[in-house]
Amino acid sequence: LFVVFEGGEGAGKSTQVSQLAGRLDGQGREVLVTREPGATGVGERIRALLLGTTEADAPSPRAEALLYAADRAHHVATVVRPALVRGAVVISDRYVDSSLAYQGAGRTLPVDEVSWLSSWATGGLKPDLVVLLDVDPRTGLSRVTARGADTDRLEAESVAFHERVRYAFLDLAATDPKRYLVLDASRPAEELAELVAARVDELLVA
Ligand code: C5P
Repeated sequence: LFVVFEGGEGAGKSTQVSQLAGRLDGQGREVLVTREPGATGVGERIRALLLGTTEADAPSPRAEALLYAADRAHHVATVVRPALVRGAVVISDRYVDSSLAYQGAGRTLPVDEVSWLSSWATGGLKPDLVVLLDVDPRTGLSRVTARGADTDRLEAESVAFHERVRYAFLDLAATDPKRYLVLDASRPAEELAELVAARVDELLVA
């Protein structure tokens, strides 16, 4: 089973990823927790190129899209597919939808091209479930600011950028409701974790 968590900045993805992983682990299942970008050695170096740069030497939008695709291609080939083949539950913090939302809608690259690039990179591997933690960008960004992380890079983007990202995620979810669980990320973390657990349990018995 392949479960992906998506959402904007400060949506609380990492909390929900670890809640779900802990629960499944407690049931004696093999769980692999991973993330994009940067889950592999190659990916860590790509992550540094993407996120460790100043605004002046940040990659251009197409270069950025290719770097995310390269990170993802290596991640799927060396981490995600082998774990799925072993029968593990794979939980990834971000996947293809992040590229459609950030590089597509956010950077205004044609979304169908980013989608094509992503399916080439992944060999067409799709998640069984995408949990979208939907958050208003202002709320999300203020949560991130409160934990003191990486705010210069995030604040360099306009609120309009983060709004485009948010609505792109929601649009993707609307096109394939069976594969998505859209949750209001402002609800208490324990409540969200229960809703996620219920949906994952359904998939595991199906
Ligand atoms: O999820 P995490 O906070 O680690 O993501 C790091 C950053 O990478 C996010 O702030 C997001 O802006 C950016 N990102 C992106 N395009 C992606 C994935 C992540 O711009 N495809």
